[in-house]
Amino acid sequence: MDNIVPGSFQLMKKINTGLIIDVIRLKGPISRAEIAKILNLTPATVTNITAELINKNIIVESDLGQSTGGRKPILLKINADSYYILSVHIGSTRIRTAVLNMESKIIDKITVKTTPNTTYEEALNIIKDGIEELVKENEINKEKLLGIGIAAHGIVDAEKGKIVYSPNYGWKNKDIRTDIEKIFDVPAFLDRDVRAMALSESWYGAGKYVDQFISVKIGYGVGMSLINNKQQMRGYTDGFGEFGHTKVCFDGPLCSCGNRGCIETFSSEKAVERYAAELGLEKDCMAIHELSLKGDERAISAINRASEYLGLAVANLINTFNPQLIVLGGDLIDVNDYYLNGTIENAKKYALPDLFESCEIKRADTKGDAIIKGAAVLVLDNLFDNI
Ligand SMILES: [Zn+2]
Repeated sequence: MDNIVPGSFQLMKKINTGLIIDVIRLKGPISRAEIAKILNLTPATVTNITAELINKNIIVESDLGQSTGGRKPILLKINADSYYILSVHIGSTRIRTAVLNMESKIIDKITVKTTPNTTYEEALNIIKDGIEELVKENEINKEKLLGIGIAAHGIVDAEKGKIVYSPNYGWKNKDIRTDIEKIFDVPAFLDRDVRAMALSESWYGAGKYVDQFISVKIGYGVGMSLINNKQQMRGYTDGFGEFGHTKVCFDGPLCSCGNRGCIETFSSEKAVERYAAELGLEKDCMAIHELSLKGDERAISAINRASEYLGLAVANLINTFNPQLIVLGGDLIDVNDYYLNGTIENAKKYALPDLFESCEIKRADTKGDAIIKGAAVLVLDNLFDNI
C-alpha cells in the first residue's frame, strides 16, 4: 500500500480540483468568481486550477455571463465528451460494467448475474464482453478512454491491483489489474466495493462537504470505510474496515470468514434471507422487500430482526469513532424503510446518547449507482493526483 502521505499542499490541490470540477459539473456554465465564492477559495487558486483543467481539455470556456457592471465574465463548463471512463463492479451476485463521461453521467451500463460457481476466467470474459459492447454501442473513441475503475467485493490489494480473496466466488490472488490492462491497454485501478461507495458519496453525495465520515455497505457482507479529507483510511496492511467480522457472540452462525458469531451473519442481507427462510419465505432479498411493502408480517419481521443487529453495529461505530455522519448503502437498505428506520432506531437504543445525537445517519445519496460511480472516481482520483 501507499505509505507516502501526500504533502498538505498537494492534497489540498487535489481536493480543490475535485471540488471545482464538481461545482462546474453541477452549476456550470459558471464564472471563476462564482466558483471561488461557492467554495470559499481565493480567485488565484481557482484561476490556477481551472487553467490546468482547460489545458487538459477537461473543462472549456463557454458563453459570456451576465455583467454586474464591468466586463462580462467568461463562463466555464465541463467538456463532457473530452474523455470517457469505464467502470466495473464485481458484486457478490452480479457484475456490472458502465461507461461514464466527464460529467460523471452514466451513459450506459450492463448487468450480468453471477453464481457462486462463476470462475475468475468467466468473470473476466463478462467484463471484456461488457466493455466491448459499451464502447461499440455508444461509439466511444478508444483514444478518449481515460481508464477503467474496478470495484470488487471481498479483500483486495489496491496498490498491487489484486483480488486477494473473493468470498462469494472463492477466488484467491487474482491479478485483475494486469489482466484487464492486458485486454484493453488503458490504465486500470482497483479497490473494494465498500470503498468505491464511500468515494462516490465523498465526491457526489452526502459526504461532499464533510471533512470526515463513515460509510457502511450492507450486502451479503457488511463492510465499512472511513473517509478523511477525501482520503481512504486503509490501516497498516490495507485491511481497514473489516467491521462485519467483529463478533457479537461466541457460538453464532458460521461466517464466510470461517469464524462464528460475526455481526454480518446477524445483520446483512444474507441474514434477512435466513430469517425469512425460517418463516417459510423464499431466500430472495428483493422478493422479501416486495412482500414487506405489501404488509407481509413475516417479511417485515425478518427485516426488523436484521435491522436490530445492524443498529447495534452502527451504535458500536458511533461509540468508537464519534462520527459526524454515517452513510448506509446496499441493495436492500437503499429501498427498504423498515431496514433503514429499524437500524437508526436501534442505533439510538445502543449508542451513547450524546454521541448518537451528534451523528447524522442517512442513506447513500448515490444509491444503486454508488459503486459504479465510485469505481469511476478511482480513475478520476489518479487524474486529480496529476493536475
Ligand atoms: Zn466473519
